[in-house]
Amino acid sequence: MTTEDGSYLVGHGVQVVTPNSEHGFVLDEKLLQGILLRDDIKDLPVVVVSVAGPYRKGKSFLLNFFLRYLHKTCHENISDLDEWLGAPDNPLKGFSWRGGSDRHTTGIHLWSEPFKASLPSGQKVAVLLMDTQGTFDSTSTVKDNATVFALSTMLSSVLIYNISQNIEEDDLQHLQLFIEYGRVAKDKMDGKPFQRLQFLVRDWAVAYEYAYGAVGGQQLLNKLLQVREGQHEELKRVRQDIDRCFEEVTCFLMPHPGLKVSTNEHFNGKLSDVDPEFQKCLNQLVPMLLASENLVQKKIGGHTVKAKDLLSYFKSYVKVFNGDALPTPTTILQATAEANNKSALYEAIDLYENLMMEAAGASAPYMHRDRLYQEHKKARDKAVHQFYSKKKMGGEELATKFENRLGEIVEEKYVLIVEQNNAKSMYNILTTPAVFLLVLVL
Ligand code: GDP
Ligand code: MG
Repeated sequence: MTTEDGSYLVGHGVQVVTPNSEHGFVLDEKLLQGILLRDDIKDLPVVVVSVAGPYRKGKSFLLNFFLRYLHKTCHENISDLDEWLGAPDNPLKGFSWRGGSDRHTTGIHLWSEPFKASLPSGQKVAVLLMDTQGTFDSTSTVKDNATVFALSTMLSSVLIYNISQNIEEDDLQHLQLFIEYGRVAKDKMDGKPFQRLQFLVRDWAVAYEYAYGAVGGQQLLNKLLQVREGQHEELKRVRQDIDRCFEEVTCFLMPHPGLKVSTNEHFNGKLSDVDPEFQKCLNQLVPMLLASENLVQKKIGGHTVKAKDLLSYFKSYVKVFNGDALPTPTTILQATAEANNKSALYEAIDLYENLMMEAAGASAPYMHRDRLYQEHKKARDKAVHQFYSKKKMGGEELATKFENRLGEIVEEKYVLIVEQNNAKSMYNILTTPAVFLLVLVL
């Protein structure tokens, strides 16, 4: 595959969450299903890397380097990664960034082709890249911004919080909702609600104070998260709680990429126009996020989320964030528990269908109705058992509601299976020689 001009990339950025005229958001379920329900993807645990933060601060630009790295590691399978950044003259392709020609719209974009990677354990995972547009953009309302930021936090396993120049108190305030959520969720789910929060400070100007990279970043973060006397009470709590919400909180300081990147309208992303110090930092940052040993699987309630499960979470969260006001942490928790039960429900239905398909599918011979009923009962019991053995959030009451739903759906499916089986019986009768002769005589 050629790597000359970026055309090696398979896929494109697709907008899965789009604003509507009433300051709500619409989920493009079809597009999302096309990505998450692909046969080779749907059962893989997901790693969701999202970049969020203010508008026009190089988020999409950065993501396109992630694409380069993932392409090298997942598609070309190369072991020598020194060269992953590519040739000096390659234009930067991928998600639309200012240098690109597409219009910028608020919302959430995913890369249409998940990357299949292996963890050091050999476990295969699907890596999804999520780009957010227009957050904190002055033309959007506060709620639009908060919604996009919230969705990307709730749905990612690695949230890269992309900030310009320094981490300000305001930037921490944006995390308030999730911290409240963490507090409410603490006793209701296993594990911490979120995995990795990566502050990424762009155009860090005072490298003599804290050096570029991860070490300087950690020092800055430590200083910032120190709780000081006389501090605003809210802020104090944000700092105390941030660790309780995320399994890992890190910070990385990026240098300015050079004037060609920030000011030249003809800049096409080629490395020869990017400051070498910036390239050096990219070379450290990107493997820290995307090398096999650093991939972080998405977990909710302590459980690994598969691609097909993520669909339920997308639907629930877009719904809950579509109200007039931002939802409360308790409402978000309910939505999480619903989605969690729903994905267990879908999995149980799948099991029922697969078992029945094996026993009495189109290619299986006609079965006596008593035997068919026995098969149905066996498959139904297994499905119910699996539903219950999957640890879920939301307690008995919610689980019972979904188990009832499972019962109804399974019965509906059984009716169709019975019909199909009866049709086989008619076919059998009609194709026996005696009946055939009788029909001819009549
Ligand atoms: P987004 O809105 O955050 O996704 O920003 P884009 O990735 O579209 O980039 C916006 C502009 O910032 C482009 O002109 C980029 O060339 C430029 N840019 C990319 N990275 C950086 C950076 O680290 N610092 C500065 N100052 N500009 C950058
Ligand atoms: Mg962008």
